[in-house]
Amino acid sequence: MRRKLAAGNWKMNGLGTAQDELRAIAATPTRQTDLLICPPSTLLERAAIVASDTPLEIGGQDCHANPTGAHTGDISAEMLADCGASYVILGHSERRTDHNESNAQVAAKTLAAWTSGLTAVVCLGESLKERQSGQTLDVITAQLAGSLPDGATGENTVVAYEPIWAIGTGLVPEIAQIDEVHTILRAELVKRFGVMTGDAIRLLYGGSVKPDNAAEIFAVPNVDGALVGGASLKSHDFKAIIDALD
Ligand code: PGA
Repeated sequence: MRRKLAAGNWKMNGLGTAQDELRAIAATPTRQTDLLICPPSTLLERAAIVASDTPLEIGGQDCHANPTGAHTGDISAEMLADCGASYVILGHSERRTDHNESNAQVAAKTLAAWTSGLTAVVCLGESLKERQSGQTLDVITAQLAGSLPDGATGENTVVAYEPIWAIGTGLVPEIAQIDEVHTILRAELVKRFGVMTGDAIRLLYGGSVKPDNAAEIFAVPNVDGALVGGASLKSHDFKAIIDALD
């Protein structure tokens, strides 16, 4: 049985005062749901202190593929682990768009994450244009194949399906569309990594998940949780999403 995962992506939001929200999230009781918040890197160490001795895990939002070196402004996987992170989001569409990240770069970063003992949350998803022109399944299967290196397991990898047009827009795909994509992703994982591993890798949905649509999305069989942006910034909303999952 795959455990559920409620993951919050704070993006470029959060100052020191956000620790109160983290404390409230860390105190949420759960039965079958793992909790993860990925704050901006400036908050990682403080977030890790708040999360220590609680079920809340902390993650980064990106890492460099190299362990050290002349890469001004970048952060390595080892540095994230050193701050107390156990996860890292990789290949988010905002990174793919703003920083031109390719599938191959995401795969290299994923390997770096594994080397430092981090679980990679590898993101993929189609644009509105790709959705409207019927390319969704081709796009997401190509992103999955190119972004995941050999060696993925249920422990070191989580895959997040995030349609770009649903991120921060309040638009959500129809349940049948989420089901279709997650069914294909599961089948591709099983085909590539075998039944045991393919079935163990958790599949998250992300894109405008809110307290009022969470239960419906989580009822889809291959949705093992959510990657939540805006609604993870307020502990009240994120707790409601956790409750719907748990
Ligand atoms: P959203 O963002 O929940 O604000 O749509 C999701 C994400 O980008 O991970």
